[in-house]
Amino acid sequence: MLKHLELLVALQDLDVMITDIDEVKQIGFKVGGKEKLKEARSQLAEKLSKPLLYNYENLRKRYKRAIIPVKDDICLGCFMRIPTSLITRGRSDQDVINCEGCGRVLYWYD
Ligand SMILES: [Zn+2]
Repeated sequence: MLKHLELLVALQDLDVMITDIDEVKQIGFKVGGKEKLKEARSQLAEKLSKPLLYNYENLRKRYKRAIIPVKDDICLGCFMRIPTSLITRGRSDQDVINCEGCGRVLYWYD
């Protein structure tokens, strides 16, 4: 996988954890560690290229998970089949691929 996609997946994991803490707090539980997560998040964000981060931040306004795996050539965000040309580019790590259906950033794993 592309190095910056790996970073983006890690960033998303942190964002989901931060969101989860907020949700758990809303129902009245005390949870710590949010500041640490935020610190790790900003350190990670600095390593990402600006256009990719911007792309991701925009998608995050719409989706809880903005970067989504592809399984059997299908986007697991919207279940649309990915065109072969994009699969080739994505799989060979030439490019960051956005789903044509939902716009999420796609990544392949084996
Ligand atoms: Zn999609």
